[in-house]
Amino acid sequence: MRQRLVMGNWKMNGNLRSNSDLLSAIARAEPESAQVVVCPPFPYLAQAQSVLSNTPIQWGAQDISLYEKGAYTGEVSVGMLNDFACQWVIVGHSERRAYHAETSDTVAAKAKIALQHGLTPVVCVGELLSEREEGRTLSVIEAQLSPVLALGTEVVKALVIAYEPVWAIGTGLTATPEQAQEVHAFIRQLLSRIGAEQVRIVYGGSVKANNASRLFSMPDIDGALVGGAALDAKEFLAIVAA
Ligand code: PGA
Repeated sequence: MRQRLVMGNWKMNGNLRSNSDLLSAIARAEPESAQVVVCPPFPYLAQAQSVLSNTPIQWGAQDISLYEKGAYTGEVSVGMLNDFACQWVIVGHSERRAYHAETSDTVAAKAKIALQHGLTPVVCVGELLSEREEGRTLSVIEAQLSPVLALGTEVVKALVIAYEPVWAIGTGLTATPEQAQEVHAFIRQLLSRIGAEQVRIVYGGSVKANNASRLFSMPDIDGALVGGAALDAKEFLAIVAA
């Protein structure tokens, strides 16, 4: 059985005061069976740690550096995330790929370094609208995953994959459960070729309380990576309940 995972990606939102309200509300949640993770911006990881320690809710970062230390202005290393007891990190989010030119090779290398230091990477993949319209969705996903799968079965078994169609992120346009399931099933097929079919595959892209349960009813959707709706405790907890 694959444990459900609901992860909130706060992106570049929040401040000390609003986070305090959001974290305390989430900290009161008692997720029955799902694993629940929040990913605030780097400066607030200490705040997340202080509110969420001793609760079932875990926290993670939205990115990590490829390098362990040194002259990399503006970067945050995996060791720094360890210092704040992060257990998770998102890698290869489409906003990192689009605005910071992250390639699939870089994303795979980040996943590897995270795992080497005890963090679970959530590797994001997803096609652009134009790629979907050209009928290239599955080949785009396969190309994005290829350097990750090349890390080998033992590594791949320890990570999580997020399918996030770029056209569905922050747009209110959710993929239909059937559209998402088609891609999730394809990813599972790629995973099974290397004996890693138990890897969790979560969906992201305008997941809300009112569409979560239909998405979660699909056989290969193991949870969600939630952006906008993760900033509202009630909405986020309704997704967890779904
Ligand atoms: P969204 O973002 O839920 O606001 O569409 C999802 C994501 O980018 O992870």
